Formats: sequence, structure tokens, C-alpha cells
Amino acid sequence: MSGTVARQSHRTAESRRELERMAVDLLTPLRLRPLFKPAIWGGTRLRPWLGETPSNEPTGEAWVLSDHGDSHSEIIEGSAAGKTLRQLMERMPERLLGQSFATTKRFPLLLKFIDARLPLSVQVHPDDSRAKHHEPHGPGIGKTEAWVMLAAEPDARLYAGLVPGATTAQLREAIAVGHLEPLLHVMTPKPGDCLFLKAGTVHAIGAGTMLFEIQQSSDITYRLFDWNRVDPKTGKARDLHVEKGLACVDDTLGPCVPVFPLPHPARETLIDGEYFSLDRWNTDQLFRVGRVGECRMIVGLEGLAEMAWDDRTFAVRPGDVWLIPAETGVCEVIPRGPVTLLECGCGQNPDN
Ligand SMILES: [Zn+2]
Repeated sequence: MSGTVARQSHRTAESRRELERMAVDLLTPLRLRPLFKPAIWGGTRLRPWLGETPSNEPTGEAWVLSDHGDSHSEIIEGSAAGKTLRQLMERMPERLLGQSFATTKRFPLLLKFIDARLPLSVQVHPDDSRAKHHEPHGPGIGKTEAWVMLAAEPDARLYAGLVPGATTAQLREAIAVGHLEPLLHVMTPKPGDCLFLKAGTVHAIGAGTMLFEIQQSSDITYRLFDWNRVDPKTGKARDLHVEKGLACVDDTLGPCVPVFPLPHPARETLIDGEYFSLDRWNTDQLFRVGRVGECRMIVGLEGLAEMAWDDRTFAVRPGDVWLIPAETGVCEVIPRGPVTLLECGCGQNPDN
């Protein structure tokens, strides 16, 4: 009898502690501050679009959700405002990412906006096993990525994969003479196009494009060719990584074409993959995002909406990035007119 009482009071104390912890710390949706990255090929659109003071310095990328290297996103709205994503990952990874991610030391994804005034290098990224092999001191994380085009000039180009039949040996010869274009699959992108680029795909983002990128949290890029250009800051060509790059090329990957989602009145599933999922909402009607026990990310692209959770609401504007922690779960989105937003998930890789 006394044993039962003891067990009950123990349980009560435990649930009281649980309640106190929840009351203090319950995670709401969290909005993140972008981190801007200069690049010789960058433009000037990202800062003003994301509400920052414009700058003439070419800005290639805005890392809008990052726990990579020293680039730790800061939370600027929501219950953990003032903390960084890294701090939350150190203290409460399960609460952010869910049970299956209890041992994860870093956030599995990196989200970016990219503004290419000039073309990026022709490049390739390793998969996880090649990342471990070629960068033995790194975390061994490869880079599978996907793009959603936000804007494209009429003569914009994307290079996505090799043309059919092209081989790594031909690629090596073409790099030696500095003339790769005939081996690359070239396409003219339209706003809204989504391309999935598995690690090992030779690719380059061409000039006159602005896009959203979702990728594994890795920054390993092997440059195969840099269009014979010189960095105006240094007066030198940027380094190439031809041997490592060629060792990572999968010459069966390409041509890559835009994904073709099944038609749906409000939500298109663009990608449902090993490393990430990507859904696009396009509606003026109320809908629900997030899932209990899973971490989701919401990226505002067009239109205004409110996201409601518990008795709180949060604005979602174009360019806003919200992280919905696993413990936060489902939120309602109330559009104020037609909206387009992306919902990103962490994929099905058990190691993610
Ligand atoms: Zn890339």
C-alpha cells in the first residue's frame, strides 16, 4: 500500500516537473534570421528582399536555416528568441527533431536563397560515403540538394546533369581544354520549376536566376570548371578540385528535368526523399502544416498569411523562414489572399 502511494507521488512529482518544464520552455514556431554570404557571382537582390539594408557587395547566398560550421541561425521570433539553432541542438535535439533524432549532433538540413547575377562554377558534391573518404576530418555528410526557381530572366540557364552518353573520361578532357558546355544538360528555367540534384550530379546555376535551395547540411563543393574567369578581388582564378570532383561524378545522372508533381488543389509534393521532403502550398484557404514528433520548416514565397498555434499567431511573409519543432507539431495557416509557401521535412534517412 505504502509502496503504491510512494510510486504515485513519485509519478506526480515527475509530471509536475514535466509541466513546469513545458510551461517555461514549450517551443513555439521559431523564425530565423538570414545569414548573408558574399560571392563573386552574387547579385544585390537578397538583402532588400529579406528586409535588410541593401548593399552593393555581391551577395550570392542567404543561409536562412543553418547549423553548419560557424554559421548558426539566430532565432528572432518565437519562444526561443535570442538563442541560436546550435544552442537548441545542444540542449534539446529531441524536442526539435523528434525521437528518431535523439543522437543527432547537428541539424540535418541547410536552407538557402541564392541570387546568381553571374553563373556559379560547374561543380559536383560527394555523397555521404565519398564525403567520408575525401574529407576524413569532416563529419562525413554529402550533399544532395534541390532547387525551386523564384525568378529567372528570359535567357537564364541551368546546367543540370550530363547529356546522355557523356562519360567521366570525356569530362576530364573537356576540363583540360576549358570547354565543358557541350557535355552539360542545359535548360531554361521557369519560376516555380523544382529540380532534384542527387549527390554526384554535375551542375551549375546559370546567370540571371534566383532560387530557393534545400540540401543536406554540408558545404563540400568540388569545382570542376569556373568558366575561365578571374576573381576581381584576388586577380586569380578560384581553385578547382578536378580529381576529387571527378571521383565523385556519377555520369549516369542527367539530364535532370523539373519534377512533375501530381496535380492537387492546394498542395504539391515536389520531393519525398531520403534526406528531405518538400511540399508546396498554393491556396487562399486555411490549411495545416507541421506534424507532431517531426520537425518541419515553412518558407514564405508569395502572399501573406498568419500561422496559428495554441493561442498565438505568427506572420508569414515572403522570405520568412519558420522552424516548427517536433514538439510544437501542427499549426494552422490562415492565408490573407493567395499564398505560396514551402513545407520542408527531414526525410526518411534514419541517420539524418
Ligand atoms: Zn550545388
